[in-house]
Amino acid sequence: MVHFVGAGPGAPDLITVRGAALLESADVIIYAGSLVNPALLERAKPECEIYNSAKMTLEEVLDVMRGAEADGKTTVRLHTGDMSLYGAVREQMDRLDKDGIPYDDTPGVSSFCGAAAALCAEYTLPGVSQSVIITRMEGRTPVPPRERLSELSSHGATMVLFLSAGLLDRVQEELLQGAYTEQTPAAIVYKATWPDQKVIRCTVGTLAESAAREGISKTALILVGDFLGEHYERSLLYHPQFTTEFRKGTPE
Ligand code: SAH
Repeated sequence: MVHFVGAGPGAPDLITVRGAALLESADVIIYAGSLVNPALLERAKPECEIYNSAKMTLEEVLDVMRGAEADGKTTVRLHTGDMSLYGAVREQMDRLDKDGIPYDDTPGVSSFCGAAAALCAEYTLPGVSQSVIITRMEGRTPVPPRERLSELSSHGATMVLFLSAGLLDRVQEELLQGAYTEQTPAAIVYKATWPDQKVIRCTVGTLAESAAREGISKTALILVGDFLGEHYERSLLYHPQFTTEFRKGTPE
């Protein structure tokens, strides 16, 4: 059996209780060494075989899984954050299906949640934005043309950019073709929840220069939108006059 486990954004105590238990019982761990905190591997049994997938191809990863399965061993495939975002898990699962190897999936705390926590920010403020666009700048991996940043920017919604910290000149240019302005608040969160986390608050117009000043070109998220500003409306849910299924509102 193969367990896909989300490692969380970095801090080793931000893995789920279920994920931690799976790590502790694994005979084989294949971890995404470029971003998973190696401190998590301290949970492994002494005899556990550990592989760093940063140095492996998909084929090599699958060979390890197949070998473990043939020996009746349990494998944990440890992915950074939550594997449903830029995790390259589908291709593993489809091949395991073909081989008849069973697997399951334990979610993790994505770095976009870790970044919000680093800022004590709420992405979906009433009166500001009720949507979060999670995307990336086109790099070596292409992005479908209808998802160009300039197109997505037309909404002015809260935006979270993965895998784009090294491309901020282009990011800035495309964001400005939409509803954001030079003054729209933005933030760069480097290594959210790691001991060397850095939070840089800036604006869309100063994204590239801020990252360059701080020497940040990877392992960072770019957050954009007025949710980082001063103004918003209070929630209806907790408003004294608002009636919900659980609470009767008072008249004005
Ligand atoms: N599945 C992961 C994302 C993997 S893609 C998740 O849910 O978080 C790798 C990108 O994620 C990095 O280039 C960076 O943009 C972002 N990232 C991952 N961990 C991060 C962290 N702790 N702080 C900031 N960004 C992070």
